Amino acid sequence: MSAIETICVQGGYTPGNGEPREIPIIQSTTFRYDTGEDMGKLFDLEASGYFYTRLQNPTNDLVAAKIRDLEGGTAAMLTSSGQAANFFAMFNLAGCGDHIVASSSIYGGTFNLISVTMARMGIEVTFVSPDCTDAELDAAFRPNTKLLFGETIANPALTVLDIEQFAKAAHRHGVPLIVDNTFATPVNCRPIEWGADIVTHSTTKYMDGHGVAVGGAIVDGGRFDWMAHADRFPGLCTPDESYHGVTYAERFGQGGAFITKCTAQLMRDFGAIQSPQHAFYLNLGLESLHVRMARHCENGQAMAEFLASHPKVSHVSYCGLPGDPYHERALKYLPKGSCGVVSFELRGGREAAGVFMNSLKLAAIETHVADARTCCLSPASTTHRQMTAEQLAQAGIPAGLVRLSCGLEHKEDLIADVAQALEKV
Ligand SMILES: *Cc1c(COP(=O)(O)O)cnc(C)c1O
Repeated sequence: MSAIETICVQGGYTPGNGEPREIPIIQSTTFRYDTGEDMGKLFDLEASGYFYTRLQNPTNDLVAAKIRDLEGGTAAMLTSSGQAANFFAMFNLAGCGDHIVASSSIYGGTFNLISVTMARMGIEVTFVSPDCTDAELDAAFRPNTKLLFGETIANPALTVLDIEQFAKAAHRHGVPLIVDNTFATPVNCRPIEWGADIVTHSTTKYMDGHGVAVGGAIVDGGRFDWMAHADRFPGLCTPDESYHGVTYAERFGQGGAFITKCTAQLMRDFGAIQSPQHAFYLNLGLESLHVRMARHCENGQAMAEFLASHPKVSHVSYCGLPGDPYHERALKYLPKGSCGVVSFELRGGREAAGVFMNSLKLAAIETHVADARTCCLSPASTTHRQMTAEQLAQAGIPAGLVRLSCGLEHKEDLIADVAQALEKV
């Protein structure tokens, strides 16, 4: 299958004669075998198949295959959340005593995961600006660096990553680039085509799109040659004693090693699996992703233009605006549009933002974005409240920032709602 629209609707699953038209939900924790030897082969990774839903489930794998094809990757897996996806993607490569480099302009939950929880596991991080020079990027790498991480469109700062620049820097230093593509979705950007090696998603956002199922996904682009950097990635390139000495990069090749290791080790040991029911909901969302993204972008663009011309608004971040610092990059990486999320600052700071949000009628205050229903949030007082003033500034988040996620309603209704709320400020 070729076009992204067709993959959204039909990718991942092709029913045989007389089989269910829609992806079946395999609501079973376990799977039956005729002999102990049959099952033993699965445990040794000698045969592929299912034995326990904490590691893998057929429904999940059908939906993961659709996301793999949407991103143009070679293998993919679902996780219980976007947090689990980003943690697994990084922890699959980096452990105690290792170092990673990450863009400072990332989701608050990921920032916390890296700078607090992974630090407690002995993984050090150097944050770099998404606008850093090549020299600044190069200076961040160390001999024990295992990966570079960034977001295509950062939540909530809405900076756009120069994926090619970051990919080249990662590859100069012999490590893969991991890109969280949650906000752009593969409908608007396919990071692997620009050099990214691993792509992650919070499928909770646009992919589900209806606010019903928390979930995540990891896609391997299959382009990173682990064996060429075997010393740096012993987990992929030397025998895993917990699987009778299988060497992932040898047995499963460049296209399969990363996801197989991630499933066999991390899913086995942490069990952050998405439920098959959630995978089914996710698939329903994916079936209309291409149609919805176009409307989210249309509404986001109209809202950004309205806000930019409003006297009570001091600043609007939306890469679809010609004056936005990321407009040029968006033309390159996001030619079809970016997303429905618009960030803006009100004259009057945190207090004005509070009055504005409390006055909205259609848009609801929610810890959520990328939903069919318009919603809004003040990042500094909610999702990013664990960050210090300095960290907020580094992540490009002023105290009075409002993040407005334009849903699928009619744009005139949304603008009228925002206009009346601005009058109250
Ligand atoms: C929401 C989000 C996450 C975390 O995903 P959850 O599904 O909430 O765990 C990670 N990255 C980005 C860019 C997000 O927007």
